[in-house]
Amino acid sequence: AADSKVSYVDVAIIGAGPAGCMALDVLSRYADQGLTVRCFDKRSAKLDNGQADGLNSRTLEIFENLGFIEKVQKEGSPMSEINFWNPDPATGRLTRTAKIPDTIPGLSRFQQTILHQTRVETHLLDDAKLHTKGRFSPERSMLPETLDLDEASANDPDAYPITLTVRHLSEEQSNPSAFKGETNGTRSGLFRSSLLSAAEEEKLYDTEGSAVVETVKAKYLVGCDGAHSWTRRQLGIRMIGDQTNRVWGVLDMVPLTNFPDIRMRCAVHSANSGSVMVIPQPEGLVRLYIQLPIQVKQGEYLDRSQITPESIMSTARKILHPYTLETDHIEWYTGYHIGQRMTESFGRANRIFLAGDACHTHSPKAGQGMNTSMQDTWNLCWKLASVLTGSAKPDLLRTYATEREVVAKTLIDFDTKFSKLFSGKPAAEADVEKDGVDLKEFKDVFATSHYFSAGMSISYGESSVASAQSKQQLAPKLVVGQRFFSAQVVSQASATADQLTTRTPFTGAWRVFVFPGDVSRTAEMERLRKLSAYLDSPESVVSKYTPSSRKRWDIIDVVTIHCAERTAVELYDFPQPSIFHPHKYDSVFVDGPSHYHGDGKAYEAYGISKEEGAIVVVRPDQYVALIAGLGDTDVLDAFFGEFMLPAPDGGYPASKVRTVAPPDWSQVAH
Ligand code: FAD
Repeated sequence: AADSKVSYVDVAIIGAGPAGCMALDVLSRYADQGLTVRCFDKRSAKLDNGQADGLNSRTLEIFENLGFIEKVQKEGSPMSEINFWNPDPATGRLTRTAKIPDTIPGLSRFQQTILHQTRVETHLLDDAKLHTKGRFSPERSMLPETLDLDEASANDPDAYPITLTVRHLSEEQSNPSAFKGETNGTRSGLFRSSLLSAAEEEKLYDTEGSAVVETVKAKYLVGCDGAHSWTRRQLGIRMIGDQTNRVWGVLDMVPLTNFPDIRMRCAVHSANSGSVMVIPQPEGLVRLYIQLPIQVKQGEYLDRSQITPESIMSTARKILHPYTLETDHIEWYTGYHIGQRMTESFGRANRIFLAGDACHTHSPKAGQGMNTSMQDTWNLCWKLASVLTGSAKPDLLRTYATEREVVAKTLIDFDTKFSKLFSGKPAAEADVEKDGVDLKEFKDVFATSHYFSAGMSISYGESSVASAQSKQQLAPKLVVGQRFFSAQVVSQASATADQLTTRTPFTGAWRVFVFPGDVSRTAEMERLRKLSAYLDSPESVVSKYTPSSRKRWDIIDVVTIHCAERTAVELYDFPQPSIFHPHKYDSVFVDGPSHYHGDGKAYEAYGISKEEGAIVVVRPDQYVALIAGLGDTDVLDAFFGEFMLPAPDGGYPASKVRTVAPPDWSQVAH
């Protein structure tokens, strides 16, 4: 008998994997504005081992932006070098043929790091709890049962067009014994693997006797429910792409070996026994990705009993022979076959969205799935929150699919090429044309793909939030549509040197970075005053789009980086309140030398001329949206006007901000 409890929520999230946890964390920053979110996961507990473990540099930059990078760095293992091992053409002996840095040095401030998916999910969830006093947290043992979208009311911003029913499962039902699957004492991840069909996985959840069904009415829904996505199937959205016949085994273990590079990331191709990728993990563990001597036919599922820790170890030994490989502890193992697929669309009616593995799957070896999944909801959720809190038009949400579909497609193309090169048998030069793999090409693909695998190659196309009206030449190294990178600056207020991105963490606000040049010169300071007069006016984008109930920098935060000598100007020389907020000392920075950390040379890093200056508008997710001249206030108006909605209460008048007058020296007797 169903209970008919009905509840209302702004956003429902299905699935608390990396994509769902990121969604919850980003949305948690808007909870103080009344945003309501619920996240349902059918499993009673979160993952406790195995699965993804590679965090790329871009994800780490996002974690810095969210404020918990130090914790991740402290726990994780940074990756420094990749070693390539191949059979010597003359002797067949396994030989180290190249060493390259893990990523291009200087590409990011953060080096790729290994940390288990479960820890990554924990950090995101802890952060979400921190920002909501524990309110935003996944509800586990909750199995969605039906999903209905009333497309007729999808254009009504006040409507709750989504109806979701959710069944409360018991602990037993949502943690079926299959999950605790062990083979000879080693924990198995096969129940989550691509070797299981969606139907087989669903059968694990016995709903018999679970009575309570709740009806949830939602404004938006995000399906983060993984490769077998229930949400996707409810919407009838198809996955398009291929499944290869190659089967891989994965295991995490503490090795005892005479192979010298076991604590390095390695790609090993043997002459006749397949290939292995070695990934060192924290706590003395090492992960092996091994191509198994098993094949599976298109559309068929493998007899999983063929994959055991022993079968994986035995193949690994053959690949590494004559190096030995023993272990007393295997932490976890699984198997998968490679499918490179993506959905024909990323959602429905601008109300339901798919994210993560629910809309793209590929092999895990390139280490991109968890990163891309989190970055999907990183892209989506500030947009969702902006619409729900009334600051942006719903059309903004269309940019989620246009931006992320291209990323998924690029990833799948890369993975197809990479997997083929990794899975193939090394070929003598003459055989490459047939089916062998040119190992030099493999290394070159690895090296040239660094920019991509670090997450740095994302370049969102022109849209309302990546403006074609930009004057790209004013900041040639900051590309519109690409991520805003950090440079060191010095606080005008405290003389402390810091990274610009550290000083501008994620708050949901847009950042308007103003580069006014050398403001110790009259003309430059005058130009800045003119900009400030516009920003202080009731018509400015800051005044118009910020509700008076919020802080003046909550929606659009103006941050100035000048390049005058720090001691040649005083904080109170800067116009108030739009350039220097007397309440917010982190609004004026210097590009110049610091006492302890050298000179960041920010103007040079961004390619900004000290004479001409620039305005760089950066989205809440840290992508460059617009580059304009210091006098281009009409461009700012047009840019924000395209997707923002004026504050219903008339906006935030600059006059509401308390300013500080300079000292009145005439009062001093002499
Ligand atoms: P998932 O992690 O699959 O999470 C989905 C969540 O939804 C789960 O919590 C599940 O319980 C829940 N759920 C599912 N169905 C329902 C339902 N009907 N109702 C309610 N809840 C539901 N990626 C990397 O970036 N780097 C790596 O190094 C890497 N290594 C990998 C190694 C292995 C062995 C594997 C298997 C994958 C690896 N990946 C890696 C890929 C990565 O694990 C996935 O891409 C990532 O987990 C996808 O995140 P997600 O949140 O989209 O989905």
